[in-house]
Amino acid sequence: MNIGVLAVQGAFIEHKHIMEKLGANCTLIRQKKDLENIDGIILPGGESTVQGKLLKQLDMFNIIKDKIANGLPVLATCAGLILLAENIENDDRKHLATLPVTVKRNAYGRQLGSFETRDSFGDIKDFPLVFIRAPYITNVSSEVKVLSTVDSNIVGVEYKNQIGLAFHPEMTDDYRIHQYFLDKISQ
Ligand code: GLN
Repeated sequence: MNIGVLAVQGAFIEHKHIMEKLGANCTLIRQKKDLENIDGIILPGGESTVQGKLLKQLDMFNIIKDKIANGLPVLATCAGLILLAENIENDDRKHLATLPVTVKRNAYGRQLGSFETRDSFGDIKDFPLVFIRAPYITNVSSEVKVLSTVDSNIVGVEYKNQIGLAFHPEMTDDYRIHQYFLDKISQ
């Protein structure tokens, strides 16, 4: 199995290390040709505005959008979730817009926005949730499964081939969500 990790900006290397620990091949995606033979893609945290711009400059934006719309499994964390969201409540921009949710950027405030807690992601219980200037989800369409909430805000969802997380599982040594993603691909 070959997993692509978008590597134009942000916290991508941690995802690569976890994928390799779990026995998957991993390609860092820096240019169009890196997208050719992937079975899944990870969109990491970082700065969604910068990532969105770079995807366009590198001519990867439409290819990634079409691949996801056509069923390529995707695991998106934080800025990655913002890239996937169909709507951004406090921004006029939209990026890939394949996931029918509305997100709020920097929803916890810019300065006090980093914290940790533990909660579930669906059947994965007591998972360490690390938030860094994170968004949360303020609205979901009816087919979206809500898998994590913190203080009644939605922070983890699954919709068909897409998993969107407001938190950073790659900043922990708990690999259960990455394993869940790999299991979903091999099903
Ligand atoms: N605040 C960032 C954004 O809006 C996301 C932060 C992160 O990915 N840790 O893109």
